[in-house]
Amino acid sequence: MRSLEPKLRPLIGPEQIRQRIRELAQEIRRDYAQQYPVLVGVLKGAFVFLADLVRELRIPVECDFVKISSYGKNTETSGQITLQLDTTIPLAGRHVLVVEDIVDTGLTTAWLIEHLKKKTPASLRVCALLDKPARRRLEVPIDYVGFRIPDRFVVGYGIDCAEAFRELDYIGYVAQEETAP
Ligand code: 5GP
Repeated sequence: MRSLEPKLRPLIGPEQIRQRIRELAQEIRRDYAQQYPVLVGVLKGAFVFLADLVRELRIPVECDFVKISSYGKNTETSGQITLQLDTTIPLAGRHVLVVEDIVDTGLTTAWLIEHLKKKTPASLRVCALLDKPARRRLEVPIDYVGFRIPDRFVVGYGIDCAEAFRELDYIGYVAQEETAP
């Protein structure tokens, strides 16, 4: 039962997302031409973004994934980061681009950067579909940003709330409880 649905408000529509991904892909294609980069998608939230991004890139890439848990079933980060799945492609000497859904406090991305650095890639950059700078606790470099968004809890386009809403083709936010008149 998806009891939150009536409170969902649209934030970024499907055409806006498509257009921005085309622009990001153009930038990334230019920066990584001839480099055969490895895109490391952060599961689960980035799976839709990564799938659309690689098809817009039109350069050869390899894809790998990590799965990190930092959020429980609520909307606050626990600060406790657990690696549930690591990359399998050897990253030493490779050009690595991390593909994230959202950078919020920055704790997850900062942790992941340190983790991947140990694998001695030739270069390491970050691409995030959404950047929520209002709640940043650690400064992390984000080389490619899809959209900068206000401090709202968002869902859709791969991003969930307790596993629901990943299938939405738009990004919406959960509106505050409306008070009864
Ligand atoms: P950070 O470590 O930067 O605080 O959080 C990164 C992760 O928290 C994201 O990859 C995402 O899974 C989750 N997260 C942050 N903000 C939101 C949000 O607004 N909605 C959802 N569903 N997850 C979020």
